[in-house]
Amino acid sequence: MKKVLPFTPSSRLYFADDLPEVAVVFKGDRLLVRQTAESCFLPCTFETEFAALKELAGEALCVGTFNGMECGAWEIEADCEWQNPDGTEFAEIRSAMHLMDKMSVNAIARARELLAWRQRRQFCGVCGRELVDNASDISRICPECGNTFYPVLAPAVIVAVVRDNKLLLAHNARFKNNMYGLVAGFVEAGENLENAVSREIMEEVGIEVKNIRYFSSQVWPFPNSLMVGFFADYAAGEIKVDGVEIADAGWFSPDEFPEIPRHGSIARKLIDAFCESEF
Ligand SMILES: [Zn+2]
Repeated sequence: MKKVLPFTPSSRLYFADDLPEVAVVFKGDRLLVRQTAESCFLPCTFETEFAALKELAGEALCVGTFNGMECGAWEIEADCEWQNPDGTEFAEIRSAMHLMDKMSVNAIARARELLAWRQRRQFCGVCGRELVDNASDISRICPECGNTFYPVLAPAVIVAVVRDNKLLLAHNARFKNNMYGLVAGFVEAGENLENAVSREIMEEVGIEVKNIRYFSSQVWPFPNSLMVGFFADYAAGEIKVDGVEIADAGWFSPDEFPEIPRHGSIARKLIDAFCESEF
């Protein structure tokens, strides 16, 4: 059986002269996929419609190689009249990513982050000149003052806090449904990840934690986050929600869980890991 090669990010930003072999096409918050009952994957570009896409939307931004094939990204307008090939459809990005393999998720995340970053980073923040792509890496460079700009990642922590075989679950005030999730938040300037875990838990639910330990991480290109998952143990204090970000929170054992995040999210992976452990 042929070995599957991992997704390899491109070492510099460039546009493909020819059609790339694998296409990542965004249309608003939707992504072009080929979907069957069991799986969802990125389309290859052998159909003639992709040549038409290149005519309409320009050359693809190359983001890396996908199982040895060149992978290029396009972002088209929501009202773009491109007719996508039979058997493909535009699916909501997060739902599609949850159904896809790791290699596809890496390619999609990189494509989305780089396209969004290029869009936001067109001009030099120092002197205002229009930036150009650097020929040697993925940065953009100012031809006037020489400043170099790289894509920025915004790390965020998400934490499963455990107390006496129960898990801390919180209902975010922004959630439209009655779902309860884990406490999460962005890392602040000057903090390490553990600082961010302690502060977020204290700010949002008013308790102290100890034994903070790394679990796993997840790309989150909406637009440029990296979610870093932790477990922590309850140390002291009583739950007191901030009432702004968190509307309600409590300790739950698995047999009394409210509605929880769907499969595929790092929140759910943390929750499942808690349920499968010896708590
Ligand atoms: Zn400049």
